[in-house]
Amino acid sequence: MKDAANENLKRVYRAELATEQAAKALEAKEDRSFEEVRDGYSSLLKAYSKLLRETMIMTRLSDRSQHKLIKLQEELRHQNEVIKAKEGKLLELNRQLMEASVTDSLTGLKNRRFLTSFLTSELERLKRLYDRPYEKKDRVEGTLLFVLVDIDHFKRINDAYGHPAGDEVLRQFADIIEACCRTSDFAVRWGGEEFLLVCRDSHRGLGRLMAERLRENVLNHVFKLNDHLEIHCTCSIGFSYFPVTYRENRFLGLEEVVNLADQALYVAKKSGRNAWVGVIPNPSYAALGDEVPLELEMLRQLGYLDLITSLESPAQLVL
Ligand code: GH3
Ligand code: MG
Ligand code: MG
Repeated sequence: MKDAANENLKRVYRAELATEQAAKALEAKEDRSFEEVRDGYSSLLKAYSKLLRETMIMTRLSDRSQHKLIKLQEELRHQNEVIKAKEGKLLELNRQLMEASVTDSLTGLKNRRFLTSFLTSELERLKRLYDRPYEKKDRVEGTLLFVLVDIDHFKRINDAYGHPAGDEVLRQFADIIEACCRTSDFAVRWGGEEFLLVCRDSHRGLGRLMAERLRENVLNHVFKLNDHLEIHCTCSIGFSYFPVTYRENRFLGLEEVVNLADQALYVAKKSGRNAWVGVIPNPSYAALGDEVPLELEMLRQLGYLDLITSLESPAQLVL
């Protein structure tokens, strides 16, 4: 394109030169015959016409180039928009993929992976808050409550009504758990028919409230499995807090705190099901030492922790 433009410019320049020469030739002669003047004007006219033609060609070419340039710019803008739209779709797909990787597909609740990734930083933040001189620790807000819920005799539901009916119970069970949650809480499907509720900014009295609400709501719910089938379920619940005691010498990790809730849940199962058992700190034993194994019954006997329950008396607990 650049070569063609140069060639055109040369042609215009040559035509300009020819016109100039023709004009000079006309001026140069003084005694001119009529024929000479006529031929001179004729040459000038020709040269001028050629100059005009070449100039017009060049203008047209330049118009065409500009037109092409505008079209190219438009195309570029369009391509840019296409790329932007594709980029947006890719980001959205990525977000959906991330969401799917931390969501349980059957119930729509979060899965274990979500909790691990979220709570790691939350536990670190709380550890920093609690890791202060003793007199300030009691005033720290933000205890975490871990409530582990397991459906009682769920296997019997599968056996009696089939796996799809069992799935429907799980979905409705997840809805009950979600209905009991605040927006800042996390409801997680922990395993097959086991769920974990994590309440943030909790206080030490929230465990019994949450556990009782869950137990009652499950007990009173009518699980409608199809047009002809309605059943009832119960659940057993264990809960624990982070930090486990009021003043922690060593902080337990996520696994360890859930493990204590799991042991409490097991006590609820052994004690007859449709019940909750909570692990709470014993105020007379402030600090949990490094050397103590995390066996619930031993911690209780040593006086570090107490158990509370929905049963009429803690004496009814089967440990
Ligand atoms: P317990 O009161 O002691 O908890 O008894 P359980 O029958 O509830 O507990 P168990 O561990 O004996 O059985 C759990 C059953 O849950 C076994 C397993 O097949 C079933 N299960 C696990 N995941 C799913 C699921 O996604 N869908 C269905 N329908 N069943 C599931
Ligand atoms: Mg069960
Ligand atoms: Mg289970």
